[in-house]
Amino acid sequence: MPTSSELVASGDASLSVAPTPAPKDAAATAIRQLDEAAQPVGLGSEERVEKQSELAAQLVEGRLGMVSALYASMQLKNAAVASHCLRVALSCSRWGATLGMPDRLRTQLEAAALLHDIGKIGVPDAVLQKPGRLTDDELRSIDSSRRASRNVLAAAGAPEAVLDGVESAGAWFNGGHRDIKLEGEAIPFVSRMISIVDAYDSMTTDQVYRPARSRERALAELFEGAGTQFDPDLVKSFCEMHGGDQAELDADVASRWLPSIIGDGPSPWSVTPLAASPAPASPRSVFDTKLIDNLHDAVVFVDRTRIITHWNVGAERLTGVGASAAMGKVFTPTLLDMADDAGALLEDGKCPLAETLSSGMQHLGRYTVMGRNGKRASIELHAVPVDDGGGAELGASILMRDITSEQSLEDRCQQLHAAVTKDPMTQVANRAEFDRMLAAFVDAHEATGLPCSLIMADIDRFKSINDTFGHQAGDEAIMTFARLLKSLCRSGDLVARYGGEEFAVLCADCNNATAAKRAEQIRKKLSETAHSYLGGRHITASFGVTELQTGDTPETMLRRADRGLLQAKDQGRNQVVQLGDGMADTTGKKTSWLGRLFGGGANSSRVIETKLVTKVPVELAVEKLKGFVADREAKILKAGLNHLRLQIDDQVTARDGTVRPIAFLTDLRLAEEHVDRTNTQGFARGKYVQTAITVSIKAKRERDRRGGRAIERGRLLLGNLMSYLMAHEADDPAEYQPPETEAPAEESPVGAGA
Ligand code: GH3
Ligand code: MG
Ligand code: MG
Repeated sequence: MPTSSELVASGDASLSVAPTPAPKDAAATAIRQLDEAAQPVGLGSEERVEKQSELAAQLVEGRLGMVSALYASMQLKNAAVASHCLRVALSCSRWGATLGMPDRLRTQLEAAALLHDIGKIGVPDAVLQKPGRLTDDELRSIDSSRRASRNVLAAAGAPEAVLDGVESAGAWFNGGHRDIKLEGEAIPFVSRMISIVDAYDSMTTDQVYRPARSRERALAELFEGAGTQFDPDLVKSFCEMHGGDQAELDADVASRWLPSIIGDGPSPWSVTPLAASPAPASPRSVFDTKLIDNLHDAVVFVDRTRIITHWNVGAERLTGVGASAAMGKVFTPTLLDMADDAGALLEDGKCPLAETLSSGMQHLGRYTVMGRNGKRASIELHAVPVDDGGGAELGASILMRDITSEQSLEDRCQQLHAAVTKDPMTQVANRAEFDRMLAAFVDAHEATGLPCSLIMADIDRFKSINDTFGHQAGDEAIMTFARLLKSLCRSGDLVARYGGEEFAVLCADCNNATAAKRAEQIRKKLSETAHSYLGGRHITASFGVTELQTGDTPETMLRRADRGLLQAKDQGRNQVVQLGDGMADTTGKKTSWLGRLFGGGANSSRVIETKLVTKVPVELAVEKLKGFVADREAKILKAGLNHLRLQIDDQVTARDGTVRPIAFLTDLRLAEEHVDRTNTQGFARGKYVQTAITVSIKAKRERDRRGGRAIERGRLLLGNLMSYLMAHEADDPAEYQPPETEAPAEESPVGAGA
């Protein structure tokens, strides 16, 4: 250990901090504050004492950072002891300045002086304030408190020099202390200084057992003890300091302690080697620190090996893990009992933070952690890699936000959504959701022109299943069928429970043929499955399949599929019936007839008139027409021999987005024709029968006929009709003969769908 003179000689200029000369009145205020903070307690009004201890706490916090927590505990235990320690620390600081002590050593001296009595928090006040002689036991408890001081500070990460300084404070220079066996220069330099300042302060303040002595008297007593109790050189140095310029020294100490209230100045010790000589903190970093400490969210810093270097109060609050327990540990999923959002516990090998550090990429994820009171908390974890600005990795910062309440709100929304869209028994979409989705599918697929199909399915003879095996088994059958439908559908499809044992499947981007194949697959699979709840018996279902056609509304598409289903039931059940052809057949020809229909002419923008041909006899064409009439719910206004006048109600969307009803009058005249034809290979030449249909479509009301939108809807209606009739336009437009506007009177309904 260096002596005071060695120390002055070796004073390392680079380590010392030159006192910043404060403006005169500022310095005076600072010194007054120092004085006030270090006043012996118990000598003034309660209010003054409170203000004083607040000031002292502030002073220590600013100067010594985390060490202040220890000081605060001393203040709580015994305010008089704490005040004494602060005075000793300030006095040591003054003395260190006159010795030209290297800055780091001076800081250690300050910390050791301030906390040399920390162990006394374990000594009962009755002993500390006892007026008379202490018993051997009481002396032993005082002695053991010195070791306690060392242990507390060691746990807080104090450097060895501070620990030694504290443990040997009070040692006798001649080795005559009852407990500390060190002697002379073997006693740490810091301890020798503290012993002197400690004794001086005790002598110059009022004690319970004796009043304060004068400064002169106290200095004289120090001299008396020089060589036995105290280091004689240091006693001399201490006395010299008292003869020097006190104001200048005070200004130095004030500039060292008070500016540090805003975070300026070296820390007495630090946990990470990185911060061993911290750059002077800018006010910005003071703001940052304040913000982080007061943030509700958890903020954790780790170094590049994932060792935790910062753990704010928010992290303690969220996890229930205290900073002292977390600091210095490796951040791992098991530390927090982390689980992914599916509830699976994360292994340490799958630490999201490790990934962030190795990849240098930010990570944002949702997890749960074990929170306070053993309750799991949902968190959003955001890990951001931190480098030194030049690309060298320093570690990562982690923000953890408690989203438990948001999560439960999200869950509730999901539950609510499920409640309105799902069938509770089968967990597939309910009828309302199906209706919504069908409309959306029709809109979307009409816009893109992509195919889209609908399968309606109904379990066969379900009533007898209920009757034979009971309602419970019936339910089982319904659930099994729903599961089967789901398992054989693609992710973009929608399976819905349409009614009791009737289901609908919307197949996106899928044509009639593919949908029918899918239905057939489902039918086959169901018919081959034995059901234990039906005593090993099988069940079957019937299917109607159709594809979206030009001009379809959700209702027409649904009715067509339903007709397919009815037909399957009629034909003996356990089969698939496919109705209508899709958009493919009509879209290719759209341009030709559209060009002619809407290309110009006085009539063209108001009435759609054309001739269609379907390669079937007239009776079959009429059958197909029945489907159209039924699905469009057309009103039959007139029906003559091979002539039909229909009113078809539709809707039109105006330019401003409003939807209003529109009615179309459609005149159809059917005529059977016999034509010479060959097949595509040129064979089978002969007379073939076909049906020609002349069509006229116009809006019922004159004012509706003027709008372009009405024509658009009329065109879709024509396309829809062509799909039902499997018709194409007559090859020769000249063949077209407008149908009679007034039909003959014989009224006989064509029997819509009956
Ligand atoms: P098919 O369709 O082959 O013509 O004959 P079916 O016996 O299936 O005919 P229907 O559609 O008339 O009968 C359906 C029966 O399903 C009527 C009703 O009691 C029963 N049902 C409807 N919903 C449920 C349900 O949720 N659970 C059970 N167990 N039965 C239901
Ligand atoms: Mg049924
Ligand atoms: Mg049914």
